[in-house]
Amino acid sequence: MSIAANELGSLTVRSIREGLLNKKFSATELAKSALAFAEKENSKTNAYLTFAPERALEAAGKVDAEIAKNGFVGGLAGVPLGVKDVIVTKGLRSTCGSRILQKYIPPYDATAVFRLEAEGAVLIGKTNCDEFAMGSSNENSAFGPVRNPRALDRVPGGSSGGSAAAVAQGTAVVSIGSDTGGSIRQPASFCGVVGVTPTYGRVSRYGLTAFASSLDHIGPFARNVEDAATVLHIMGGRDEQDSTSSFAPIDDYLGLMKTPAKGLRLGLPKEYFAGLSSETGSVIESAVKELEKLGCSVEEISLPHTHYALSCYYIIATAEASSNLARYDGVRYSTRAEGETLSEMYRNSRGCGFGAEVKRRIMLGTYVLSAGYYDAFYKKAQQVRTLIARDFSLAFKQVDAILAPVSPFPAFKLGEKVEDPLAMYLSDVYTLTGDLAGVPCMSVPCGLSPEGLPIGLQIFANHFDEANMFRVAYNYERATASQS
Ligand code: GLN
Repeated sequence: MSIAANELGSLTVRSIREGLLNKKFSATELAKSALAFAEKENSKTNAYLTFAPERALEAAGKVDAEIAKNGFVGGLAGVPLGVKDVIVTKGLRSTCGSRILQKYIPPYDATAVFRLEAEGAVLIGKTNCDEFAMGSSNENSAFGPVRNPRALDRVPGGSSGGSAAAVAQGTAVVSIGSDTGGSIRQPASFCGVVGVTPTYGRVSRYGLTAFASSLDHIGPFARNVEDAATVLHIMGGRDEQDSTSSFAPIDDYLGLMKTPAKGLRLGLPKEYFAGLSSETGSVIESAVKELEKLGCSVEEISLPHTHYALSCYYIIATAEASSNLARYDGVRYSTRAEGETLSEMYRNSRGCGFGAEVKRRIMLGTYVLSAGYYDAFYKKAQQVRTLIARDFSLAFKQVDAILAPVSPFPAFKLGEKVEDPLAMYLSDVYTLTGDLAGVPCMSVPCGLSPEGLPIGLQIFANHFDEANMFRVAYNYERATASQS
């Protein structure tokens, strides 16, 4: 039996498992439907850069064989998965959305991918993204922008726009992306899906192409909180290949999140509500009221250094990027362009290989690290980062979780902000702080703007307290399920 395209959009990890075990469909049938649908939808959204039919059918075949002999049925058995193209996959092209890596076939799998596939996930394809994850609209991809499946004339958000779009359009049931300054939460919010940025160190970065190493996180996209928590639970945890991955044990998210929300203390940071558009503001306000109805207490709090986050982020992120991207020189890594001399070869390789935004960031980063400016910019930004992290630590002495908008506005039109990098950078004002502080944070759909565009509620929790973050999100999702 095959699965109709319109059924794909409502599948979840749980319903797939039931379908497989009750023999309603096989993993192979599901993989074939998902691949066919993904290829068809791609002409509209451009969410995928590479499809992986052989890998998908092989994985699905293994799941079916195990089920047939009552063998091992993994936590993600048969679940169609999309993987952002900055996350490497063995033998499968991984471009990072860049011309400079357009032919790169990695010799290994990222730990996150390895762990998800070991539990039976079926990798459908690699998803489009802003070049090296630099952007907020997916318009910086060398392979064309992604369109938002909820409104095709709008951006899906960035930089993990393809991963968010894949889940929203129903071609993947879950996907993974990376978040350095908001690239999971913002596209999740724009596309109306759940997106999670875990605590820094919760998920191994082995195999995640580095943009800004001290800020980079891998995290899941899903259609509901349970699926996102399931994916994070499977891919999280210590990995010997990444020395910054944490030894902290992983909580039982799925059990703990079902604890009623009653009694949770929630904080509303006043700095996040000042510049908000009224349509986003009123949707967030009703979400807060829902949580109050569930018995949470809500109080105003202050994260006083929020205002400096944007400048601080764009110094630290560009500084780290300028160093991380030095390796793409046409010799050690990446496509080589010819040149008369060695330096001309470098110049041509980097000059033709990188897009405008990546070059802008390399130059900014080199500038803030240069002798004479280091103390004034880079060192100062590191000090400010400590203050931002301290704001969160102090707040979490007072409250269990923090609620805020994800973005000041819903999905904007394609092309609307490309000419103005500063306006684009402002999309991230509410998400950058979470990455700078390294705390877990997520976006959960909480309503629509008057034009019918999705809006996400952002939930922050203390380091390694993903369980309470999921608890807020899960209880909210359940309470509002009948309204959506
Ligand atoms: N939009 C931000 C930037 O351009 C964040 C990107 C990200 O999180 N990868 O840097």
